Amino acid sequence: MWHTGYNPRMTPDKTQVIVIRAIPFGETSAVVTLYTREFGKLRGLAKGAWRPKSAFDGALDLLSIGQVLVLRKSSDQLDVLTEARLDRRFRVGGSVAAVRAGMQMAELLDVLTADADPHPELFDAAEATIVALSDWRGPDGAVQALVIQTELALLRLTGHAPSLDVCAECAADLPPAARTAFGMLDGGVLCPRCRPGKRAVVAVSADALAALRRLAAARDAWRSIDLPDRVAGELRAIMNTYFAHLLGRPLRVSAGPVRRAATAVVLCCLVAAAGCASLSMPKMPWSKPQPGVDSQAAGEAGPDADSAVISSEYAQPETEFGWDYFKGENIKKRWKKLTGRGPNEPFARSALAEADALFREAKYAKAIPKYKVAIDRWPDSVIEEDAMWQLAECWFFTDQYPKAEDQYDELVKKYANTRYLDRIAQRQFVIAQYWIALDQKKHLPLLVPNLADRSRPLFDTRGRALKAYDHVRINDPRGQLADDSIMAQANAHFMDRQWMDADYFYGLLRTEYPDSDFLLQAHLLGLQAKLRAYQGAGYEGGVLDEAEILADQILVQFPDQLDAEEQQRVGKTRAEIAAQQAQRHWNRAEFYAKGKHYTSARIYYALIARDYPKTQLAQASREKLNLIADKEDVSDNPFPMLTRVLNPDSLKEAELDAMAEADAQIARGDTSGGGAPIR
Ligand SMILES: [Zn+2]
Repeated sequence: MWHTGYNPRMTPDKTQVIVIRAIPFGETSAVVTLYTREFGKLRGLAKGAWRPKSAFDGALDLLSIGQVLVLRKSSDQLDVLTEARLDRRFRVGGSVAAVRAGMQMAELLDVLTADADPHPELFDAAEATIVALSDWRGPDGAVQALVIQTELALLRLTGHAPSLDVCAECAADLPPAARTAFGMLDGGVLCPRCRPGKRAVVAVSADALAALRRLAAARDAWRSIDLPDRVAGELRAIMNTYFAHLLGRPLRVSAGPVRRAATAVVLCCLVAAAGCASLSMPKMPWSKPQPGVDSQAAGEAGPDADSAVISSEYAQPETEFGWDYFKGENIKKRWKKLTGRGPNEPFARSALAEADALFREAKYAKAIPKYKVAIDRWPDSVIEEDAMWQLAECWFFTDQYPKAEDQYDELVKKYANTRYLDRIAQRQFVIAQYWIALDQKKHLPLLVPNLADRSRPLFDTRGRALKAYDHVRINDPRGQLADDSIMAQANAHFMDRQWMDADYFYGLLRTEYPDSDFLLQAHLLGLQAKLRAYQGAGYEGGVLDEAEILADQILVQFPDQLDAEEQQRVGKTRAEIAAQQAQRHWNRAEFYAKGKHYTSARIYYALIARDYPKTQLAQASREKLNLIADKEDVSDNPFPMLTRVLNPDSLKEAELDAMAEADAQIARGDTSGGGAPIR
């Protein structure tokens, strides 16, 4: 229904591309996200891409490398791909690790770059890595090294390389040490002088630091470096945590013209990269931390400065936990006390500290039981709150998303105003995105239990994802991600062609979040959902009426935000709705005319002529009206009440009056001016 017209006089640009995402659009088309050498990241519509013998011929598969002809549109619109040539297809070799690594490259290209911001060097680095990973025959250990090397290269090229040789804060040389402090928020290693008071600090082993330095320094180091499992695991954990801190906070685009994107742009934002990397962060635009501000904040606990890693290092506020706890007549608790497992603050605190130490070393599996002890032994306390958060984080970082999601939610249920609220919303949002993407990628069957993959729920991945979006919104309806999660839910339904559900959530966003950046999109996509939900002239027409109203609202409410093309589209949609409405009335009119209930028929013909004067049926209606102008109803309707009741529209009195008037006018032969819209 939406035609992405383009100016045929434009000449397409040719560019080298890596395909980082492709999602279906309509029956055979695709919206693809490409990382291009010449123009940076761009999203384009490839019409008919998945038709056999299309001009794209398989070149738009994930991680394909090739050349594309693209018609570049203005800043906020979807580009149009006209042709593509495949140079190299990504081949799945014998290694799952290599495939995962390839997916991760696609995701990194997506999250580390902004649209239309070219970095040829970055392209070349990613391309080389993807070529190496394709049809991988080497050992899995080398995949790890290659990935980390590439990650470091991409971070360097986007200006976010961690400092590995000198202190990130004071640039002093670092004394050799068995473990070196690495500040996630400070962007690298810290000297002993700068270390105190910093949050989100992990202790990196000498071996791991040496490996990081080597991989950061030489381009081909991954080929020769030998990473023992222990070091490889530590490096992975460091990089995961680093990326989590870089990408994990929701920097909502500060509205403005960029955000009022064309509908299709929304559609391609909604599916998280086909990521199976352990970190599927929301597609948040990259933002550089403001220099100065960050270093000041690092010492004090701003919401973002809090470390996920060091909960036991918080100066615990000397809140009185009191002994209310014992007032509770909780038999279980008493029993625990009797058996020596009763509440014990020092015990819980030391369990938490031990767990945090393990967490810092990325030994999440070992930290889990300790956090559970901390939760168990000093409930209803800051200790419990911290331990619950950390426990969820352990599950998150070990890719056990169902457990993580449950735990995050439990934390909010117990501590409704927890200081982790924002970060919990981020995590739940990310997990939901990941599940939706997974579901769309694999079309996971609903009722076959999943026993192999701990990162997705046992049953119904998609349903759980939608619930996670619900949690984001319900836990904190005024939170930053509340409207994002509604939009994501709506879009997920839209992509699955569940038009009524999609319509509901777009409607929810319009009514509950009128200040949302997604408002216009919720109108445009809501309109589409309503139209698709409408099943035809033989069915209930309420949704069509709503679509009509919504289309009018869009034109009235966003006159400045729609560009000419969008305005034209909405106008066209409006005309289609009118045609559909006219058709509904026409069917009724014909039905009554056939039964010789001319009075009723006249009402509907008149409605068409009056309300939809520009439709083809309007003229036909006027002719029909002339034709039956003098005809009497077959009998004087023996069942007037019945007609009224059966009248599917149960017209209101006022409307009946208006129609009778119109009927009379037209009956008087006053059809010449009938083309003028009355409304
Ligand atoms: Zn320093």
